[in-house]
Amino acid sequence: MFCIAIDGPAGSGKSTISKMLAKELNFTNIDTGALYRAIAYYFSRENIDPNTINIENELEHIKIDVHNENFEQQIFLNDVNITDKIRTEKISKLASECSKNILVREYLLGLQRDLARKSNTVIDGRDIGTVVVPNADVKIFLTASPETRAKRRYLELKLKDPNVNYEDILKDIKNRDTQDMNRELSPLKITPDYIKVDNTEYNLEETIKIMLDVIKRSIEI
Ligand code: C5P
Repeated sequence: MFCIAIDGPAGSGKSTISKMLAKELNFTNIDTGALYRAIAYYFSRENIDPNTINIENELEHIKIDVHNENFEQQIFLNDVNITDKIRTEKISKLASECSKNILVREYLLGLQRDLARKSNTVIDGRDIGTVVVPNADVKIFLTASPETRAKRRYLELKLKDPNVNYEDILKDIKNRDTQDMNRELSPLKITPDYIKVDNTEYNLEETIKIMLDVIKRSIEI
């Protein structure tokens, strides 16, 4: 199976871009951040602090399934579709918190690898090319400046909540960067086998074009 791994920090546009690339290439898109969000959603709903509980016991109560419908990933938590419930700032922060835990990472590793084995995929996250699919055919590190990423998140969240504050979002993005890049387990990092794409100056269409060029060139080599 052909695998395109896309890693990068929060707000770089990974999820949107991966989805569009998958559609363009007729591949399946796997957004792995959504899996961490599903765990965070469960903890939030059950009022459980991921730092203080016996996570192993809790994970036994969690069943996550992923389906793709018309290139849209649908996430099921214990047979209930929660796709529309996991894109809040609260869940973003909690997902980052949960992702530091070794048992959570191990729990999701098998699931991610199974999904990647099933079909040709564009799979995005933080540790896809380094840990989940280290032998991916193409590895891209997608990034942008923290200010640009915060502005994108702000514009997206403002549609749902007019009271969102840009400075708060920038602070959250920087905190998440620090947490994702400095954690002990599977930190977000770029290794020499990645091709870096910085889209600070590019819009969505331009970024897609650059990524398709990168993929085509990597395949030709
Ligand atoms: O990409 P997204 O913002 O949806 O990811 C939510 C959180 O899940 C990230 O901040 C990160 O801590 C965690 N994550 C991870 N490894 C992945 C994907 C996401 O640790 N492969």
